[in-house]
Amino acid sequence: MDTSNKKAPSISFELFPPKTETGMEKLKLVVAELNKLDPEYFSVTYGAGGSTQDRTFATVDWLREQGIDTAPHLSCIGTDKGEILDILERYLGQGIKRIVALRGDLPSGSGLGGLGELNFANELVALIRQTFDDAFHIEVAAYPEFHPQAESAQADLDNFRRKVESGAHGAITQYFYNADAYWRFLDDCQQRGIEIPIVPGIMPITNYSSLARFSDACGAEIPRWIRKRLESYGDDLSSIQAFGAEVVTTLCRQLLDGGAPGLHFYTMNQSASVLQICAALGITNGENAS
Ligand code: FAD
Repeated sequence: MDTSNKKAPSISFELFPPKTETGMEKLKLVVAELNKLDPEYFSVTYGAGGSTQDRTFATVDWLREQGIDTAPHLSCIGTDKGEILDILERYLGQGIKRIVALRGDLPSGSGLGGLGELNFANELVALIRQTFDDAFHIEVAAYPEFHPQAESAQADLDNFRRKVESGAHGAITQYFYNADAYWRFLDDCQQRGIEIPIVPGIMPITNYSSLARFSDACGAEIPRWIRKRLESYGDDLSSIQAFGAEVVTTLCRQLLDGGAPGLHFYTMNQSASVLQICAALGITNGENAS
């Protein structure tokens, strides 16, 4: 098949700011490997209430020093508007053009109870657009399997539309392993007149217990057939990883073949599984050979 005119899917990678120097040194190697795939950008998470602020800045600073397109995440809950604007000015000065705008979750027991100047992501998006116009490309979070605190599926879709109407340019989804949830979400968005690109977030499967814990907390479903197989491998990490790579590659292929605008990988600061999945998809330096 002649693939010369085939548009390469946009890929991007999420990193979290390491806690230690050793973690940072490891991350540099991971970024060097992943950067060979010519991603559109790397995003860097941010702890709600500014809990990882300095580490996020350090990671963003290093990426920018390497000339890498970087999208810092910014959560608004528990943070003053003035502080948010200072952070955005800092990023603007660094030539950053993309922000992932979030509400965030305050750690339980933090005492702030969600009360503050900005309580939902749509308010943060509006603040960024009102203050900086189009200086930043704003990504927001989308939940094909619905946000765990949403009143109802309909309310969550309406809240998502509010973020888009406030000025979001694109969205990245929570991860999922059931492509139908994503297609149905896109249909619902289309019916609501939402036209921004909604890029699926992809979580490689490398470790069952941490994935199960995390999925319970964020409301992402691990389908029973996947869960049961992963459970059956026990401590056999190489079987978990081989099966995980097969499942996630198949999911990515379905998504790209069905017209998803790109893939955003939750790398968990590891390169091996992402590289394996991208190689299986035929994605090498930004080209799609499939
Ligand atoms: P919102 O869009 O504000 O929605 C939160 C909940 O409130 C939803 O249930 C929604 O339906 C409801 N809601 C929204 N607006 C209203 C309204 N006006 N009135 C009533 N209800 C409303 N967390 C971090 O702390 N740091 C990160 O770096 C980070 N990165 C993420 C990246 C991605 C791609 C995703 C998908 C999630 C990320 N998260 C991160 C997690 C995120 O902060 C949590 O899922 C959080 O609970 C919701 O954030 P949100 O921006 O989606 O919130």
